[in-house]
Amino acid sequence: MLKNDTHEVVIGLEIHAQLKTNSKAFCSDEVAFGASPNTLVSPVSLGHPGTLPVHNKEAVNMAIMLGLACDCDIRKYNSYSRKNYFYADLPKGYQITQLDTPICNGGGIEISLPDGTSKWINLTRIHMEEDTGKGIHDLDISNTLMDYNRAGTALVEIVTEPDFRSGDEAYAFLMEIRKLVRYLGVCDGNMEEGSLRCDANVSIRPLNSKDFGTKVEVKNMNSMSNVKKAIEFEFQRQSKMALSGEEIFSETRSFDAMKGTTFSMRSKELVNDYRFFPEPDLPPLIVNEDWIKEIKDRMPALPKELLIRFTSEYQLGNYDAEILTESKDVADYFIATCDHLKNFKGVANWIMGPVKSWVNSHASSIDKFPLSPKSIAQIISYIDEGLINFSVAEQKLFPALLSNPDQEVSQVIDNLNLIQTGDEDFLHQLIREVLSENASKVDEYKAGKTGLIGMFMGQIMKKSGGKADPKKTKSLLVELLDN
Ligand code: ADP
Ligand code: MG
Repeated sequence: MLKNDTHEVVIGLEIHAQLKTNSKAFCSDEVAFGASPNTLVSPVSLGHPGTLPVHNKEAVNMAIMLGLACDCDIRKYNSYSRKNYFYADLPKGYQITQLDTPICNGGGIEISLPDGTSKWINLTRIHMEEDTGKGIHDLDISNTLMDYNRAGTALVEIVTEPDFRSGDEAYAFLMEIRKLVRYLGVCDGNMEEGSLRCDANVSIRPLNSKDFGTKVEVKNMNSMSNVKKAIEFEFQRQSKMALSGEEIFSETRSFDAMKGTTFSMRSKELVNDYRFFPEPDLPPLIVNEDWIKEIKDRMPALPKELLIRFTSEYQLGNYDAEILTESKDVADYFIATCDHLKNFKGVANWIMGPVKSWVNSHASSIDKFPLSPKSIAQIISYIDEGLINFSVAEQKLFPALLSNPDQEVSQVIDNLNLIQTGDEDFLHQLIREVLSENASKVDEYKAGKTGLIGMFMGQIMKKSGGKADPKKTKSLLVELLDN
């Protein structure tokens, strides 16, 4: 909870997610980030007279899928509205949106908080609309340049109830939404590139008050931590105003990431009248049960479902399960590896250990990881059968496989001669060498410093190149020392 002696904060979020459709919401223009400016446009997205929109079915599919994942009610009879305003990034002069018939109503999402608790956040609605173009202000000193590639891209807007009571809660919600849209494959969730954008409505109210105060809307935060910072700044600013008896009025503010502050863009009194009216060029969209079922059938397992599966079927602890379900690719890799063996905890350790290190050090993702789940499963099986030891697997086998991912695991083990051995002659030889190199330590051991056994073992294992079977070695070592 973000509060002080007199007030607490109240927050509601409005999140725009760009849908990952191949083409735009109402025409067949391609959707791509970073294409040459104004190459992905057509008379429809530019709003030329006489053109007609046709709704992209995949955009509707994705909106419904997101709604189902958030336990929303899916509206059967959908209509569209025009939101009229004049701005350079809006070539048609209006945006097609859903004003009072959002496709998804109600529902919510459970968030996990840093203190280990969780909280349910209610959604008001999710509606479909289209994106604007983009003004570019920093390429030309005296002009704003316009790129209409984004104009008409399919969006959903997710509107929450004013349920948040801290910046941490808002942050956790954004993490959860990003995870969810990525799992579902409906949005790439990239806040820096603007495919996920968040406006925060922030107000304060006296402690124990049931009524809400006047809210301020904060825009232009291009990261989750900036959303949190903006909320915390607004709470301080509004609290100070309240303390000095100033009236807080409804306005739209912008976040200044350099300063960590917000500044006023426009007051709500001056806000446009959007002259909403029903979109005459699009027929109503009817969603029936068959359509909803079709989407349910192809919906992937949700993170919350996998979390349950990982802790029950695979018997992982909550911590491991959380990490392994952070992204769908990692969860899929885990499941695919577990298909080959029974040591699920071993799989978890390998994915969270060596595999994750590879991903981090290559600034990559697991879908680019060169080794197949089967290879990782084989490595683990070799360890479990006592044929190679973990450090040899991690330090020799794993890198060798990575540099030649098409090779069979067994082949690499053979080539590098990694199978550990319990051969007594071989082990005796090594042990004698190490003991004679450490004669004084042997005396100390015999005088009672039995902790030295670890040091002897370390040296023997090293000399063997990791090939000595540790259990066998230890019993032979103790036998030799004690005689
Ligand atoms: P508007 O009429 O300004 O569009 P809405 O009632 O539609 O406002 O709400 C827009 C967003 O603002 C929602 O996310 C909602 O939860 C949030 N919100 C509404 N009232 C408050 C408030 N007093 N404090 C914080 N957030 C609020
Ligand atoms: Mg509103």
